[in-house]
Amino acid sequence: MVLLEAGKLEHRKFFSVWHLPELRGVEASDEHVTLGALTTYTDVRRDAVLSREFPMLARAARETGGVAIQNRGTIGGNIANASPAADSPPALLAYDAEVELVSALGSRRIAYSEFHTGYKQTLMRADELIARVRLRRPRAGARQFYRKVGTRRAQAISKVCFAGLVELDGGALGEVRIAVGSVAPVPLRCRRTEELLKGRGLDDALMKGALQDGIAHFQSVQGKEE
Ligand SMILES: Cc1cc2nc3c(=O)[nH]c(=O)nc-3n(C[C@H](O)[C@H](O)[C@H](O)COP(=O)(O)OP(=O)(O)OC[C@H]3O[C@@H](n4cnc5c(N)ncnc54)[C@H](O)[C@@H]3O)c2cc1C
Repeated sequence: MVLLEAGKLEHRKFFSVWHLPELRGVEASDEHVTLGALTTYTDVRRDAVLSREFPMLARAARETGGVAIQNRGTIGGNIANASPAADSPPALLAYDAEVELVSALGSRRIAYSEFHTGYKQTLMRADELIARVRLRRPRAGARQFYRKVGTRRAQAISKVCFAGLVELDGGALGEVRIAVGSVAPVPLRCRRTEELLKGRGLDDALMKGALQDGIAHFQSVQGKEE
């Protein structure tokens, strides 16, 4: 609608995916939670498993647009829209999401971290739809942190958006996944910083080093397609 109003999308017939039942529903298995592409932000906010185990996604849903957008906007649409400033991608990256694409030829699953190939560019072919997004369930006790910085508390595009998850392995950092939005042409997974943290005991020096490394990384990728 925004593109139509802005005169950037030609007026022609469009196909609505809103009534495709195959793209709806949230399902949980032992390892994963799978969201149909038509899962709205309001669905995310109301889902008990997502609110409990995926608080970063629930928070992103709460901070996306306003209530009207949350009732109608979908996770699949947010991903396909491929804005580097979108709010759910950093959370999805930190949850190591996989995207299932379907077409008349069949389906394929790809790592969400590979999905965005450049500004508004994705691996999705013209004949494909996003069917589902699969998230790995975090281990019990995983620490998660999400923050969106926008101009206002609602109806604001991110200036920067951060999602981070750590699983502790004894006293050390085990699995570490960090992602940011609005800092580069695509939402970024900060793999270098993750590697720097993995297996280490948390202390001030390590945190300072990771922060400096992260900032240097953003500066190096700004304006480039990573
Ligand atoms: C006022 C306003 C405020 C907004 N605020 C925010 C915000 O704070 N944060 C944020 O991240 N976004 C925001 N958005 C952007 C938008 O609402 C979200 O990205 C939303 O999730 C899009 O979902 P949708 O289902 O409405 O997709 P649409 O807008 O209908 O579609 C977006 C694109 O994705 C394609 N698409 C949709 N579903 C699929 C699918 N299943 N498979 C393949 N392609 C598909 C469409 O063809 C289209 O190209 C805002 C938009 C508006 C108008």
